[in-house]
Amino acid sequence: MIIETRTPEETFALGKKIGEQACPGQIYTLNGDLGVGKTVFTQGVAVGLGIQEPICSPTFTIIQEYESGRLPFYHFDVYRIGDIEEMEEIGYDDYFFGQGICLIEWAELIEEILPDRLIRVKIEKNLEKGFDYRKITVEGIEE
Ligand code: ADP
Ligand code: MG
Repeated sequence: MIIETRTPEETFALGKKIGEQACPGQIYTLNGDLGVGKTVFTQGVAVGLGIQEPICSPTFTIIQEYESGRLPFYHFDVYRIGDIEEMEEIGYDDYFFGQGICLIEWAELIEEILPDRLIRVKIEKNLEKGFDYRKITVEGIEE
């Protein structure tokens, strides 16, 4: 599935729709360069799950948990991970194989421990189509 957006609101709305439809145990990976809209998208997913709090980037903590929505939401940012050991230390498998929703930014850095069943979200710019244009590719979602 490929979705094109031209405003942050549209990217937020896509995240929200995905959050509304998310099922227990799903793992979403989210890739895209800095400033492309990963946080905008993630905030939409959270609102779709019924979470009211603002999403803070978990860059320094690896994971941020939100328990106030329809399902637990585990937001990972593994950008600063030095060693896969750090994932063991936070007990990642309880999250990956639990009943909540995982969303992992920079997931390519921990490819070796990712389960096979993933929903991959990729956000890309294309400056030829305008500064606010984004191409969002979603792979692995069950329709
Ligand atoms: P990231 O988390 O990927 O570093 P952010 O979500 O923090 O990026 O920031 C994305 C920025 O791009 C925001 O300032 C947002 O307003 C802007 N933006 C412009 N157009 C779009 C779009 N179509 N979708 C998402 N964000 C957009
Ligand atoms: Mg961000």
